[in-house]
Amino acid sequence: MVTEPTWYARGLPHVWLPYTQMKTANPPLAAERTHGTRIVLADGQELVDGIASWWTAVHGYNHPHIVQAIQAQAAKLPHVMLGGLVHEQVLTLAARLCAIAPGGMERVFFSDSGSVAVEVAMKMATQYWLNQNIRGRTKFLAFRGGYHGDTIGTMAVCDPEEGMHNLFTGLLPEHVIVDLPRDEASIAAFEAALERHAHHLAGILVEPFIQGAGGMLFHSEDVLKRLRAAADRYDLLLIFDEIFTGFGRTGPMFACEAAEVAPDIMTVGKALTGGAIPLAATIATQKVFDAFWSDDPAHALMHGPTFMGNALACAAANASLDLFEQENRLMQAVDIAKFMGPELGGCIGRKGVRDVRVRGAVGVVELDEIANLNDFKRRLVAEGVWVRPFRNIVYLTPALTIDENDLQTLTRAVAKVVSGA
Ligand SMILES: *Cc1c(COP(=O)(O)O)cnc(C)c1O
Repeated sequence: MVTEPTWYARGLPHVWLPYTQMKTANPPLAAERTHGTRIVLADGQELVDGIASWWTAVHGYNHPHIVQAIQAQAAKLPHVMLGGLVHEQVLTLAARLCAIAPGGMERVFFSDSGSVAVEVAMKMATQYWLNQNIRGRTKFLAFRGGYHGDTIGTMAVCDPEEGMHNLFTGLLPEHVIVDLPRDEASIAAFEAALERHAHHLAGILVEPFIQGAGGMLFHSEDVLKRLRAAADRYDLLLIFDEIFTGFGRTGPMFACEAAEVAPDIMTVGKALTGGAIPLAATIATQKVFDAFWSDDPAHALMHGPTFMGNALACAAANASLDLFEQENRLMQAVDIAKFMGPELGGCIGRKGVRDVRVRGAVGVVELDEIANLNDFKRRLVAEGVWVRPFRNIVYLTPALTIDENDLQTLTRAVAKVVSGA
């Protein structure tokens, strides 16, 4: 047994870990360094990473182009406030994001995390109506299975159970949460909810094609087309949360491209900087921005994170976009899907396996249950992989750059551990 490094023993009693019952969970692994699609632990074990650190590290870890961009920017201008100042990296990134975003997206508002980007989208949509003197449109229509963040505002638009609406009753504002309209019954319920609530809705909020942290649930382009049509019919803003699906995760740069449906507001985060530094953005159409363009100072968007448009983060994001241009990333997502399909497909029919689904570089094995999550996770590590199942879901969201050997290590490890479940 290798002893843990001194920093581990000294600091662990003082850190508070995410989503973790620290009393009963496996202790966290000590990561010493990363490279490519590997995480090297302090005891020397090297794990193939199947999660890309919550889907952020799309080009793999420590990509030299991103590292170099951050280092050069740190020496030149690490950060200046965006209140009254701008810099090359933030303006370059804003223009580039508008160029690659779906048609009509013209303005980018930067923040530091996905949850805040969604909060900004919600404030933007609400103030959009207020600025036009339309009052009372302060609610959102969102969906069961959805996940939009952990802050109080975003928890309220998550799946009611996952967002723990009951636990936090009294704290969370109430919104309208329904099933995605995908069959006769859910379409009828969706239409009824619109009929009843549209007058106090600011917008409709959805993760296009894949509801991620809510359970890696897939839906079809018909759903997105229906949402766009409903938003138009009731004059609501349509918000796509592409924080999980953006930057090639599902195949195209943004998932909504595959449905040929464009939102009024779009949020991005997670893979925006290639995983090195936090950054998120809320991107709006000209129509939305126009509602804020006025001689009245009170019509300005009332939000401004301290580290908004951080130059190191924007430099990393610009470098990440360079890599998308220079190295055929989107094709790699398609290749990952082709490989994972049959490999994970082998789990179909095994005892306890409820469903296997793959879209782009997202592979999901849904089980009836994972009886002992600690043990399940330990077995994955013993197979040499870093995969983080939650509830009854085992999923792979590797770096888009992963090679076939490492990908096979992941799919085989998942298949093996699932079979022994
Ligand atoms: C992760 C995620 C968020 C929240 O982003 P944070 O950076 O964790 O605040 C919001 N929406 C979706 C779809 C996400 O996957």
